[in-house]
Amino acid sequence: MKGYAVQSRLSLCTASFGEKMQETESIRNIKGIGEKTEGYFRKLQVTTVGELLSFYPRSYDQYTQIVPVRSVKEGEMVVLEGRLETRPAMSRVRNLTIITASLKDATGSIRLRWFNMPYLMKLLKLGKYYILRGKVTVKNGIFQITQPKILTKEEYLKNLGRMLPIYPLTTGLSNTTVTKAVKEVLKVYEFPEDYLPLTLRKQYGLLLLKKALQQIHFPDNTDSFYEARKRIVFDEFFLFSLALQQLKENKHMQPSEYLLENQDMPNTLIGTLPFELTDGQRSAWEDIRADLTSGYVMNRLIQGDVGSGKTIVALLALLCAVENGHQGAIMVPTEVLAGQHYEEFKERLKAFDIRVVLLCGSMRAAEKKKVKEEIHNGTADIVVGTHTLIQEGVDFKDLALIVTDEQHRFGVNQRERFTKKGSFPHVLVMSATPIPRTLAMIFYGDLDVSVIQGLPKNRLPIKNYAVGTNERPQAYQSIAGQVREGHQAYIICPMVEDSENVEAENVIDYTASMKELYPPSIRVECLHGRMKPAKKNEIMEHFTRGEIDVLVSTTVIEVGINVPNATVMMIENAERFGLAQLHQLRGRVGRGEAQSYCIFMAGNSSKETMERLEIMENSNDGFYIAEEDLKLRGPGDIFGIRQSGELFFKMADIYQDADILQAASEAAKEFSKNDVLILCKKYAALREKLEGYTGEVFL
Ligand code: ADP
Ligand code: MG
Repeated sequence: MKGYAVQSRLSLCTASFGEKMQETESIRNIKGIGEKTEGYFRKLQVTTVGELLSFYPRSYDQYTQIVPVRSVKEGEMVVLEGRLETRPAMSRVRNLTIITASLKDATGSIRLRWFNMPYLMKLLKLGKYYILRGKVTVKNGIFQITQPKILTKEEYLKNLGRMLPIYPLTTGLSNTTVTKAVKEVLKVYEFPEDYLPLTLRKQYGLLLLKKALQQIHFPDNTDSFYEARKRIVFDEFFLFSLALQQLKENKHMQPSEYLLENQDMPNTLIGTLPFELTDGQRSAWEDIRADLTSGYVMNRLIQGDVGSGKTIVALLALLCAVENGHQGAIMVPTEVLAGQHYEEFKERLKAFDIRVVLLCGSMRAAEKKKVKEEIHNGTADIVVGTHTLIQEGVDFKDLALIVTDEQHRFGVNQRERFTKKGSFPHVLVMSATPIPRTLAMIFYGDLDVSVIQGLPKNRLPIKNYAVGTNERPQAYQSIAGQVREGHQAYIICPMVEDSENVEAENVIDYTASMKELYPPSIRVECLHGRMKPAKKNEIMEHFTRGEIDVLVSTTVIEVGINVPNATVMMIENAERFGLAQLHQLRGRVGRGEAQSYCIFMAGNSSKETMERLEIMENSNDGFYIAEEDLKLRGPGDIFGIRQSGELFFKMADIYQDADILQAASEAAKEFSKNDVLILCKKYAALREKLEGYTGEVFL
């Protein structure tokens, strides 16, 4: 008893003197992180030491060599040196103070502008030599540097070539705070033994994880950054592949309890549809039918570009499950999409005696309870829902088929948990993410693949326009024109509301100005992710019913939404989105028989922006776009825009890291082949890591 007391006092003691920290420890124990900062970090899903370590920079700030004034280009971050050529002048606009001056070197002069830094008036001296760093902007044709940082020679030399991390932030949390926290955690974290055995690290030329984590946050130089990144990307792919390997082994030709041989209902539905199935849809449906009657569990991926008509194929399969006396369920990534599928299914199945139910997180408790009961007692035949479906307390009576729509938005684990809601149900997953075939083999290695080629025949190709903001008036006119013809339009802005740090259009201000611009007969509404789910659904319903003409929205409408009467998609600050994402957004129009238009509004006219948007202008083909995007970024272009919201890697990019993916998946295959390897002691750390990764026992 006594001994215990002494020991615990001792350990308390050492803890406060900075004992080494563990992965699962709260970040609250890190020096400098108080309750408030902890709260900000929580918003970014960082609560533990381990999560902070893998909270990677989104880019880096790198001090480059000093360049001559004459060589600067718009949009560049540059370091200049020279003498102050004019005496600084201060002016006031509203409550802003603006100081202007100009800097001259041997090649020319450039204008400097500082906002709200009146004290600089005293510091800046005519004729004095300065080193400055800032971004080149152009205003009324004049080159200038806005808010340049004044550097001492020492500061400049110290930072030259180094890469300083820039982290994803949230209001209240500064980059400096995150940087400090990460520095601290790297100091106090007790790095365990590397879980990748030396043999593997050697074979693939990988850094120690400890080194990699240090260098990913604070790279000494570009080379060591790439080395670090390689290790982290390898790990992501390797663990992913190993987990997949497990799944595949479990799934290989699993006999099925569900022989879904009666298929009259799907046939009847096909006969009553207002359209003919395309050849692609037909052949995907044939593949599914064969699976459902094969006596083995189906594991099939339906891949088809946006608008190819995947939903109806899923409905046919669900109907088949019901006809044979079982239940079917479909899981989608957003509530808006769930609501939409639910409405569509009910409408299409009107003639059948089938109960379709909806289950979403934001539904009222009483309503949820009722739906869960129906799911449990089997009254519900087809269940449409979000990830709420895979939570505890949702028990199916007899689930024969599960469908995951927009699969790339879910993790493998979520798909697995969905499977566990039944007893080896048939599995159908759908995705529009255009992954080259070789990658699909690796990614969806545990799945058979059907590709829906082509779009429905009645579609006219979308007309695309990549334009600058000077063409906004014409764009607004075309939108008004389309509305007058009875159609609807989307306008996408990258931000929800005005932000000091980001110069990009926001939904709230934009909606207000559109309401001012258009007469009341053109009904403008806004939609964004920060609205309550019920409000979002309400707006979406109004839009679907044609009671809103112009919907100003963030990318919440990106996935799956289907309003065929909408014919214009206008994307503000199109340069801020990945091409794959632009393609998804564009996929919201061109879903009916009318001609549709997509306007990519560029917030700047730099060469890169225009090149990227021209790809969009010239093609409506998702596969082509993904490949061009890759070429343009070039492998290893980590500063390019990542495919957003895609798959489930923090750092790895399936396109640009295709070679590492290949290597990691081979390594994983080799590894899983040999059970002895897995059992032996030196892989204990890896086993443990993998257990955590899959949330399942590895052996
Ligand atoms: P996605 O593959 O992007 O999920 P959807 O399933 O939402 O596409 O289908 C897009 C639109 O095309 C829907 O309005 C749907 O009713 C319609 N559609 C589906 N199949 C066909 C077809 N064969 N002919 C005409 N329209 C179709
Ligand atoms: Mg869809």
